[in-house]
Amino acid sequence: MEMTDAEWREQLSEEEYEVLRKQGTEGAFAGKYWDEKAGGTYRCKGCGEPVFSSDTKFDSGSGWPSFYEPVEGSAVETETDHSLGMTRTEVHCGKCGGHLGHLFPDGPQPSGQRYCINSCSLDLHRSDGDPGISAEAASDTAEEG
Ligand SMILES: [Zn+2]
Repeated sequence: MEMTDAEWREQLSEEEYEVLRKQGTEGAFAGKYWDEKAGGTYRCKGCGEPVFSSDTKFDSGSGWPSFYEPVEGSAVETETDHSLGMTRTEVHCGKCGGHLGHLFPDGPQPSGQRYCINSCSLDLHRSDGDPGISAEAASDTAEEG
């Protein structure tokens, strides 16, 4: 899936763009999902691909939504980032490449991994009365001449 920078800007809010396309990070305890308890699937805000499940979400106390593993191995990609004199592992969407957050090796069992993800790079589709299936209708709005 290839989109131009202008298309990304059009689709995403300023904050979402900053995180997904510019490797930004939202403030701790500022996002909408760090304390979210509802069951469902967290999808990439950029492309809608399922990336994490509420089943693997845990309270890390960090102020960001944290998961111990992605929905499947190929859902996300990781890349080692040596910028700023630190070694960190970046987490990207496996489909659109959008930046989601970082991966740390201090998570709970069974994986021991902590995927520390920005709320604004996620879109929760709740399992109770999921409203998000009819995305096609929204993308086909007619414009006035
Ligand atoms: Zn994506």
